[in-house]
Amino acid sequence: MSSGESSTAYDVEFRSVTKRFGDLTAVNAVSLQVRKGEFLSLLGPSGCGKTTSLRMIAGFEQPDEGEILIGGREAVGVPPYRRDVNTVFQQYALFPHMSILDNVAYGLKQKRIGRSERYSRAREALELVQLTGRDKHRPSMLSGGQQQRVALARALVNRPRVLLLDEPLGALDLKLRKEMQLELTRIQQQVGITFVYVTHDQGEALSMSDRIAVMSQGIIEQLDTPAEIYDRPVTAFVADFIGEMNFLDGVVRAARGGEFDLDLGNGVILQAHGSPRQGEKARVGIRPARLHISSGSAFGAVNTAKAVVDSLMYLGDEVQVVAMIEGGTAMTVRQQRTGHDGSPEAIRPGDAITIRWEPSAPVLLAGSTNLASDPDDPDDPAQDARAALPQR
Ligand code: ATP
Repeated sequence: MSSGESSTAYDVEFRSVTKRFGDLTAVNAVSLQVRKGEFLSLLGPSGCGKTTSLRMIAGFEQPDEGEILIGGREAVGVPPYRRDVNTVFQQYALFPHMSILDNVAYGLKQKRIGRSERYSRAREALELVQLTGRDKHRPSMLSGGQQQRVALARALVNRPRVLLLDEPLGALDLKLRKEMQLELTRIQQQVGITFVYVTHDQGEALSMSDRIAVMSQGIIEQLDTPAEIYDRPVTAFVADFIGEMNFLDGVVRAARGGEFDLDLGNGVILQAHGSPRQGEKARVGIRPARLHISSGSAFGAVNTAKAVVDSLMYLGDEVQVVAMIEGGTAMTVRQQRTGHDGSPEAIRPGDAITIRWEPSAPVLLAGSTNLASDPDDPDDPAQDARAALPQR
């Protein structure tokens, strides 16, 4: 914690929180600090522990170990209804026999807030989610997206410190989902309430969040801004989960002043930024869009690999080329279509090409819990790499 920052700078804090279900550790010694007013996403594949983490914030589950603080106060043992949080689920569960206005005002009625105040606050909340004029409708008269807006208004009307959202857009079709993603970020900025958002959709997390916690097997692999997570994933798991990535393994031949040479063992020498130790095995990742291709074979230069085109796919404005470099590693390259000579569309399967990249394109990766990394294998290229990551 930096000086001058008290623990109440965080709306939610996990201190080494563990949750087990029988033999299964769903959340494993997780520490997490959610800042006031931020939009933080918990992102990861099914079963990684996102929902369990959210449910522990809500108070629906209790941790086996560790502390949870909400607004700087110990929350373990505090029942859900006494926590200053509200949850929006994928299943909106509105009361079908009540009007929209009564659905939204319901929580305030439970809190014994007077009729005129509860209706005026409920109308305000409906205005926030752009459902003005629908007060008297029943939920069945609204579309799925509109019903989810009502659920959101119902959760916001209590003005909680933290809003917890568990895959709230999961039941909507793609177009509506995109619309609601924009809506949710607008609403979050307008109300300034801290959002903790659970999703397995990386595009959703990247486009909406201030920060993303990427989870795998009960731990947080990386917690950072969307740009950092995308450009500088620290583990192979994160790199692979967030968009496409080419992985290359090699041995560090030289390391000096924050740069290193990686010998891929097939005549290719990769020069990149980072400080691994000389002689150790290392793994790097390069995004398909950071690779460039040209026809014909080049030789000898660093950050250059000879390859043979395996397949081509047109993706609207881009072409995706899969090519095999020497040693049999497939690399995926994505390039803009230009229509000019030398444009990737002129390339055919079987052609000899050269793939090149800038020294800033490869990202040095640390060990991963999931991706071809074995903590008991001393020859695993991912071992010890975490310590060698570029300092930020
Ligand atoms: P999903 O996106 O599928 O909901 P998730 O990342 O949210 O996945 P969790 O629901 O947190 O994952 O589950 C983490 C692990 O804990 C899973 O293996 C799940 O089967 C297990 N689990 C969750 N709740 C319980 C429970 N009540 N009893 C037993 N096991 C549970």
